[in-house]
Amino acid sequence: MEILGVSKLYPAEPPISALDNVSLRLTEGELVAIAGPSGSGKTTLLSIMGTLERPTTGTVRVAGQDTAALSDRQLSGLRAHHIGFVFQQFFLVDAVSVLENVANGLLYRGTPKPERLQRAATVIQRVGLEPRAQHRPSQLSGGEKQRVAIARALIGDPAILLADEPTGNLDSATGAAILELLARLNQAGTTVAVITHDHDVAAAMNRQVELRDGRIVADSGAAPTREGVPRTW
Ligand code: ADP
Ligand code: MG
Repeated sequence: MEILGVSKLYPAEPPISALDNVSLRLTEGELVAIAGPSGSGKTTLLSIMGTLERPTTGTVRVAGQDTAALSDRQLSGLRAHHIGFVFQQFFLVDAVSVLENVANGLLYRGTPKPERLQRAATVIQRVGLEPRAQHRPSQLSGGEKQRVAIARALIGDPAILLADEPTGNLDSATGAAILELLARLNQAGTTVAVITHDHDVAAAMNRQVELRDGRIVADSGAAPTREGVPRTW
């Protein structure tokens, strides 16, 4: 995933510059923090990298594809196949079970329901929530809810997981366990980007990118892969 010279203006009087000429390349297998104070443009950056929003100017490439030429429908297909999202607020549906919440992560792929449920059971096991599969989200703790959201993001086996303040609603011990889970998933091969305003959370990642006022002001750099050459996917 790569963005080049990306700016984002939100319409207002005067317009709000949320991102100003940002370039960033995430390579396969990275565990990266995008850090910065509130209002620095982190969520805007995640939305643009995840193709949920289009930039005002600049280029966004996902899995080698320039997204500018793609229709909204094509973009949602690209997201369904390559990107998993995790948010501070979990966004679970309380009317259905944990199992179905996770299975719904495959809705946009058109996967038949029996296969969705089977894959949901597998991924629920991966995040350590097997005993909660038939519960409703409201019956779970905050940390368990975030595990459900992570399982839902993982069910399509995305190349990258984009997490916006994933520990923001959790106490520090629970948050640390969620970060450990993300690091474990990274070790199993998923590229993980964690957006955070918390220095300790950022420090737990392998690379730190620092945003201020919509600009990247520091980047500790991509760790080289085993072959020594960072690969953009
Ligand atoms: P962060 O996630 O780092 O707190 P955001 O990306 O949410 O930062 O916001 C960056 C700037 O853009 C802020 O000044 C915010 O108020 C503004 N902003 C974000 N989203 C919108 C929007 N939809 N409309 C107008 N302004 C927005
Ligand atoms: Mg934000």
